[in-house]
Amino acid sequence: MKPHYKVVVIGGGIVGTSLLYHLARFGWTDIALVERAELTAGSTWHAAAGFHALNDDPNIAALQGYTIRLYDEIERESGQSVGMHMTGGISLAASDERWQMLKAERAMYETMDMETTLVTPEQIVEMCPLVDPRGLKGGLYDAHEGYVDAHGATHAFAIAARQRGADILLRNRVLGLEPRADGHWDVITEQGRIIAEHVVNAAGLWARRVGRMTGVELPVVPMSHHYLVTDDVPMLATLGREFVSITDLEGFTYLQPLGKGALLGVYERDPRHWSPEGAPWDYGMDLLPPDVERILPELEIGYARFPALAEVGIKRWVNGAFTFTPDGNPLVGPVPGKRNLWVACGCMGGFSQGSAIGLTLSQWMIHGDPGHDIFGMDVARYGAFASGEDYLRDTTRQFYARRFVISYPNEELPAGRPLKTSPVHDTLAAEGARFGVSWGMETPQYFVTGDAAGVDASGGRGATGAAAAFVETLTMRRSNALGFVADEVRAVREAAGMFDASVYARYEVSGPGAAAWLDRLLACRLPAIGRVRLAPMLGHGGKLMGDLTVSRLAADRFWLIGSYYLQEWHGRWFRDLLPPQGVEFKNLSDSWTGFALSGPRARDIVQPLVARDLSNASFPFMSCGEMQIAARTPLTAVVARLSLTGELGYELYVPAASQPALLEALMSTGRALGLRHIGNRALDSLRLEKSYGIWSTEFTQSTTPGMCGLDRHVAFDKGDFIGREGALRERETPSSRVLVTLAIDATDADASGFEPVKLDGRLVGYTTSGAYGHHVGQSLALAYVDRDVVAAAGAAAGTSFGAPLTVDVIGETRAARILREAAWDPKGMRLRD
Ligand SMILES: Cc1cc2nc3c(=O)[nH]c(=O)nc-3n(C[C@H](O)[C@H](O)[C@H](O)COP(=O)(O)OP(=O)(O)OC[C@H]3O[C@@H](n4cnc5c(N)ncnc54)[C@H](O)[C@@H]3O)c2cc1C
Repeated sequence: MKPHYKVVVIGGGIVGTSLLYHLARFGWTDIALVERAELTAGSTWHAAAGFHALNDDPNIAALQGYTIRLYDEIERESGQSVGMHMTGGISLAASDERWQMLKAERAMYETMDMETTLVTPEQIVEMCPLVDPRGLKGGLYDAHEGYVDAHGATHAFAIAARQRGADILLRNRVLGLEPRADGHWDVITEQGRIIAEHVVNAAGLWARRVGRMTGVELPVVPMSHHYLVTDDVPMLATLGREFVSITDLEGFTYLQPLGKGALLGVYERDPRHWSPEGAPWDYGMDLLPPDVERILPELEIGYARFPALAEVGIKRWVNGAFTFTPDGNPLVGPVPGKRNLWVACGCMGGFSQGSAIGLTLSQWMIHGDPGHDIFGMDVARYGAFASGEDYLRDTTRQFYARRFVISYPNEELPAGRPLKTSPVHDTLAAEGARFGVSWGMETPQYFVTGDAAGVDASGGRGATGAAAAFVETLTMRRSNALGFVADEVRAVREAAGMFDASVYARYEVSGPGAAAWLDRLLACRLPAIGRVRLAPMLGHGGKLMGDLTVSRLAADRFWLIGSYYLQEWHGRWFRDLLPPQGVEFKNLSDSWTGFALSGPRARDIVQPLVARDLSNASFPFMSCGEMQIAARTPLTAVVARLSLTGELGYELYVPAASQPALLEALMSTGRALGLRHIGNRALDSLRLEKSYGIWSTEFTQSTTPGMCGLDRHVAFDKGDFIGREGALRERETPSSRVLVTLAIDATDADASGFEPVKLDGRLVGYTTSGAYGHHVGQSLALAYVDRDVVAAAGAAAGTSFGAPLTVDVIGETRAARILREAAWDPKGMRLRD
């Protein structure tokens, strides 16, 4: 043990060792892994160690593919067998809905260059004779699934890391972590003090405890998990090969070969947490007593699906613990608010994700950028709210229990809600709002109004019923709420609609250094006083870090508006770059809120409430200012003239406590003019009619400004700003794909993102989001499509152009074409009206 290391990784499970290896591989060799007991002594040693690349998040799926590919290489490099068994795997469908979902997934994986195949019940039995195919519709086969030896894989990473110069310090618990004035850490261990430039918490089952050593509450909690190993199964003796691994999605079980027997694992619907504070320090390489009674319902389904298992005995039970986060994905990256402190924990699929974490975190530590869009794993996707005991317990339980349950795109899950509500929540609920949730904040999705029951799938209204009784059907197709969304879209296009802006984040940047700082942070030119600009923000490599708007309220006072759920993520970025003095940064997201109001009557609604002249001449498109709103109690509001709907619009913000008064004031002038509330779904329809992208679908960390069209807001000539070099490079060698709008011949389902776009059967792109454009009467999607396809198509005449493309919507092939311009008001006249 040396007294000083560049990096100390705490934890010698599959995640910690993989990270250690990657750091060493990329050139940081002054590093040590400190392990409490022996390598694998947490969740790792008893894992079934199955792996698969498939994941709902395409970025994570791609990285899981990397994990799997690396096993052979690490075995060669270390000389240690990883015990690779590439059996292939099949996910079973035993219902029509599931079968449809697997078809949609197959199409999605195609966009990621992952070849999966739909297989028949007969083919399933051929690949895994243990399966009773009764009731099966089919399955999704992936050749790149299997299992490794947990011990061998972990040691292979450790050996290879050691060979590259890393130290591994066993039987040496970390007792405390103390920050040093220079930003480094004192790592207090049983064997003494180590000074580390960087510390990584890869403490698996103990990650929450290690987090607390630094005053950080991580949203991670251990849960128990069972599998059983059978005696030899006679049927397998003559098979001559291993059977293909099976995931029985309707049965809540998974099956892997193990010797001449099988391993049957269970994701029960009634799961249990274990030692929620983190495993006890003296927890050895122990197992928990099996709780067979509790998992019996799922076991019964498992034995019915794999009847040959009933003919043999159970060799052993494994009931172990591993960690869960609210969404089941790991926590990776720099801990917001802590210098040189990193996490790599909360990983429930270490054998699919271990190298993914090692690769991205090591790149992040060494180069300041993970190199991939890993928002889905980033520790900053959560805020403090996620670590609350109740929230963590309920959401992790929900995730575990629903691990194999179909999630529908229009489904809003109940756990941990309501956590945060806007001041007008109850009023909106009384108006019929049906809520979703964004970063804990209840957000209207649509409003059930009028005579609600009997809305049919095409959105047509039936005859009778009460709004309160309306139940939305869960479906991958258009739902019976379509009619409500259509009404909201109509209101915005013909009169006015307003959206609770509580799901926008608001930041105030002020002080003598504010303009200079923002000029470097944002890629756009800063607006003049009283003006607003769209403000792409780039990372150091030139890819997007945000799609904000910036309003200049005074020479030295600005407001930034962004996505509510990115507060911690953006906050980390802002604070890391904040100069020591001269700039004050305030997050106003919860202390100020308001409404985004738009539609042709918007000015008629807002003008009577303010003294300021809102005419085009005095307050044109992209203006902003502070105004007195004449309400019962006069309010000072920050008002900006812009909209995401493409109509004349205003965003109006007041201190949060005044939002109900603002609502009352707007309704007092708006009700007679047709003003109504709208939800997220209407916004999606409206923005797609305008070809507007948003963060997380069109704009992501792996998007360049040139790909998505935000380059037109980048002021390349304004002098230096973060990401300028990368963005300039991209101008010289443009990305291969560009963002376009597609019109899709879909009648009862719309694109939702990551559907393959094809030309003559050849993959030429993928969708990012889709919705029915209610006003234009067309199913629409935004999509990244090969530049040459777009260019070649562009030569043709007409409002839409090019050879007919196809898009696989929920796995069904639909004709599509590129729209030359936005489907609604392409010249943007209505915004400027
Ligand atoms: C029954 C079961 C079956 C599973 N099956 C699979 C599967 O098929 N596929 C799959 O991918 N995953 C599976 N898992 C999950 C898998 O085990 C985990 O994803 C993985 O092991 C997590 O690895 P880790 O390195 O993050 O954590 P851990 O393995 O928990 O490692 C953390 C390490 O940190 C050390 N440590 C903690 N605190 C300190 C400290 N203060 N000082 C020093 N050292 C410390 C611990 O001793 C431990 O060795 C299964 C889990 C269980 C329980």
